[in-house]
Amino acid sequence: MEFLTSPSQKFDLPKRIARLGELATNLWWSWHPEAARLFGRLDYDLWERLGHNPIRLLNEVGRARLNQAAKDKEYLEYYDELFKKFDAYFISGTWSQKTHPELKNPIAYFSMEYGLHETLPIYSGGLGVLSGDHLKEASDLGLPFIAVGFMYAQGYFSQRISEDGWQESLNNPLTFEHLPVSLVKRDGEPVTIDISFPDRSITAQIWEVRVGRVPLYLLDSNVEGNSDYDRLLTARLYWSDLDRRIMQEILLGIGGVRALRAMGYAPTVWHMNEGHASFLTLERIRELVAGGTPFEEAAQKTHKQNIFTTHTPVPAGNDEFPLWLIDKYLANYWPELGMTREQFVDVAKHTHPRGDAYSMPVLALKLSGGSNGVSELHGEVSRDMWKFLWADRDVKDVPIQHVTNGVHTRNWMARRMNLLLEKYLGADWYDNLDDHTLMDKIDAIPETEIWGVHLHLKRKMAFYLTERVRDRWTRGGFHPVQVVASGVLINPYALTIGFARRFATYKRASLILSDVERLLHIVNRPNMPVQIIFAGKAHPADEPGKQLIQQVYRTVKKAETGGRIIFVEDYDMNLARYLVQGVDVWMNTPRRPYEASGTSGMKAAINGVPNFSVLDGWWREAYNGKNGWSIGEEKEYESNEVQDAADAESLYQTLEHQIISKFYDRDTKDMSHEWVALMKEAMKTVIPQFSTRRMVKEYVEKYYVPALKK
Ligand SMILES: *Cc1c(COP(=O)(O)O)cnc(C)c1O
Repeated sequence: MEFLTSPSQKFDLPKRIARLGELATNLWWSWHPEAARLFGRLDYDLWERLGHNPIRLLNEVGRARLNQAAKDKEYLEYYDELFKKFDAYFISGTWSQKTHPELKNPIAYFSMEYGLHETLPIYSGGLGVLSGDHLKEASDLGLPFIAVGFMYAQGYFSQRISEDGWQESLNNPLTFEHLPVSLVKRDGEPVTIDISFPDRSITAQIWEVRVGRVPLYLLDSNVEGNSDYDRLLTARLYWSDLDRRIMQEILLGIGGVRALRAMGYAPTVWHMNEGHASFLTLERIRELVAGGTPFEEAAQKTHKQNIFTTHTPVPAGNDEFPLWLIDKYLANYWPELGMTREQFVDVAKHTHPRGDAYSMPVLALKLSGGSNGVSELHGEVSRDMWKFLWADRDVKDVPIQHVTNGVHTRNWMARRMNLLLEKYLGADWYDNLDDHTLMDKIDAIPETEIWGVHLHLKRKMAFYLTERVRDRWTRGGFHPVQVVASGVLINPYALTIGFARRFATYKRASLILSDVERLLHIVNRPNMPVQIIFAGKAHPADEPGKQLIQQVYRTVKKAETGGRIIFVEDYDMNLARYLVQGVDVWMNTPRRPYEASGTSGMKAAINGVPNFSVLDGWWREAYNGKNGWSIGEEKEYESNEVQDAADAESLYQTLEHQIISKFYDRDTKDMSHEWVALMKEAMKTVIPQFSTRRMVKEYVEKYYVPALKK
């Protein structure tokens, strides 16, 4: 292609190890722990202190150390071995080439956020991590995949908890030279795209991130010529004010299509991850209308290639705009589609008692050839929620199916656990990770070995948590009670339950606190102590979410907890990795059926950590009675209060009578046979089925390939 990207980073490296620069600027390294080790080995302390940022590490480690590494025989062997793997990755035949040679043109994927690595904080939670995992898997499978999102110059906020439990948010403006991003240029000039609003135009430039084979393009409105207000448009994830929200979504959907065109791409599949990108459907129609095709025909022609994935099981959670905003920002757009205002509004109209709104999911549902929810139950809930759009159909015929989410296995499985599987499932087990029968070999892993790996990961987590507290304490402004509340007294041998996720009220973080007396009794059992680790951010504008954090924090601070109930600040992908790999039980207590899928429990299970969760989202499909525990029943309740009380009782009962005793039922060698059986069963059932390998292949077969058929 005639495009060049202009990297923001410069390296000065000894020739023999110069390719470290190449590795640092392709996120491939982030899902290959052995590649991360190549950086870490240069200076583990610095690597940790810089938050696993290879670009900064290479620039700050110092020439002397680099020269030394360039002569270190052992390091060079590791280096050569790693680059053999790296090169093989890019040249070898791929699943996509072998299985679906018809997929030649790009599949374009649009998402508001991408969780790729903690050093690129352009994600807020599960939606972003899912997009990030999707790209990594698309790269592994060799799909012709490209992606579009935003370069949030201020990143997502870091979380601090004040002494009385209130969430404070700190912005950390990103330094582009420290990030694996390159500005897209042509003839030395940045490639830009324009969007006209009725009263002005805005311009955006494009950054490229290499995710293995997949390029991710991030739009950035911080360019000269835009007003100060417009320059901030892409500075943050999820502005709370509606003006900026709609402008962002116009930029993502309409601007994203224009950006791909400006770079010469001609995608044949357009996948919208959530409704934020729905305007892309209109922009593709506009392209045809500009060439003389009438709207209806253009809509029919583009329909089949649009794929829409919804993640929201609650009507109130869906993205909608009041009509006055549509007038304010799109009044000059509908004439370009050959439409009247009424026709334009009609395509996305959602009628409420309080009036009409412009609904992004309605827009996507009406103009897409394929739509899906993200678990079986969420598919059902979605068909029910949107059946009014197909008034003449039975609910079962509403055209929304489901593809249950998955996680990227290499990205989330501990390096040691992967090595263990290589030993017992075969060195190439990863190539066949979605093969259920291969997983039977997990039974043959000796108990001591799998338990040994788990204990190692648990100690590693405990060590990491105390390191964090030490670091936080030295930076000041931290009360001694908070030191205890952050986990400094953690015991790596006590039964440890993890609960970490976004603090949204439906996730009911405080369900386990509904009877504090009973809980204190549980955590303080003589000889059988229980620890609970909480972590998670609330959206800065979500007051109930922040109150929930405060409620949890107030319990955490009680001296009677013995330092066994803790809250760890600033949940991100790095902390998530330690927790899902290091705890004994992963707990999730959403109010059914509001957890569309959930993914953190999958990350835990693939590391041998059983789930203890409400039968909602993915867990409803995965739970088999032997790979973890359920909370509550699969039914509808007359009120939230009744549901919460029933689920809390079920939670306490199972914890008291099943989980604790099983964990502490040890033989003379301090081994719990039943517990290890649970761990193995969790891995066997979750690795193949709840992987992005299975998920992306399912998108290919159910949506991407059919979209190509005329
Ligand atoms: C996996 C992950 C999530 C999603 O967790 P859920 O179980 O879906 O709530 C959120 N945040 C981070 C940092 C994650 O790694």
